Amino acid sequence: MPQDRASEQSPLSAKSPFELRVNLGKDVPEADVRSALATGDMGFLHSFTTGSAVDGPGVRVVAWTAGCMWRCLYCHNPDTWTMTNGIPVTLARATEELRKYRQGLKAMSGGFTLSGGEALMQHRFAVKLLAAARGMGIHTALDTNGYYGDRLSDSELEVADLVLLDLKGWDPERHRRLTGMDIGPTLAFARRLAEQRRPVWVRFVLVPGWSDDPAEIDGVARFAAGLGIVERVDVLPFHQMGRFKWKELGLEYKLDDVQPPSAEVVERACAAFRAVGLKAY
Ligand code: SF4
Repeated sequence: MPQDRASEQSPLSAKSPFELRVNLGKDVPEADVRSALATGDMGFLHSFTTGSAVDGPGVRVVAWTAGCMWRCLYCHNPDTWTMTNGIPVTLARATEELRKYRQGLKAMSGGFTLSGGEALMQHRFAVKLLAAARGMGIHTALDTNGYYGDRLSDSELEVADLVLLDLKGWDPERHRRLTGMDIGPTLAFARRLAEQRRPVWVRFVLVPGWSDDPAEIDGVARFAAGLGIVERVDVLPFHQMGRFKWKELGLEYKLDDVQPPSAEVVERACAAFRAVGLKAY
């Protein structure tokens, strides 16, 4: 199959998810893309990286999917927006790749995280790959903005031992301007995770001028605390490491003048989460 050949020729491992990758799946026929989405037997991955200490508990292998319908102004991986920028990878090959790390991940109390892009753009592949990892005894985490959470059945939710839920803001209009999308489906997914008692870590990107407003942080914090399932909050300071990708891809980058938040501002945001009883780092 052409996609197998393409996947064999393209290196899955990237030194970092910040590597710019484009058009790696461009030769996959449209019908094969549709079939992959329908069956989950093939996915499009930007890369695999190993040794992450920031994408869930312990040391983790992370598969970065390609494909995202959001347009966050601060996105550091806009090359992952287009699914066919990713490498077409069969489920079997992705599973084999993970198998290599199985023992090491267990020894380091780590696991496998499926991130993106937006992993639930390829929800059938996501479910199958997470289930395969779990079947090998590997702890699994799904990093998602939650927008397509309703694509997963209640039993499919259980393939992720942990959900890393990206909450990017609170005010609906500001959220739409920041991400291009409605906040409603994300909040609905969060409430559903709460009903199912699924463990969640919240990720909150702190962007000066966008999400550092005390009312904004307070809104996210109170919502997260009210869920009753949030084990910790990671406050992720905005950075400029993805700026070059926007330029390379010919996209208009609107945050050129935004500086990363100071340590003091980050600490203030963490304090707001702690004030409602959450662990925040
Ligand atoms: S949801 Fe993630 S991958 Fe998608 S645009 Fe936002 S930051 Fe980028």
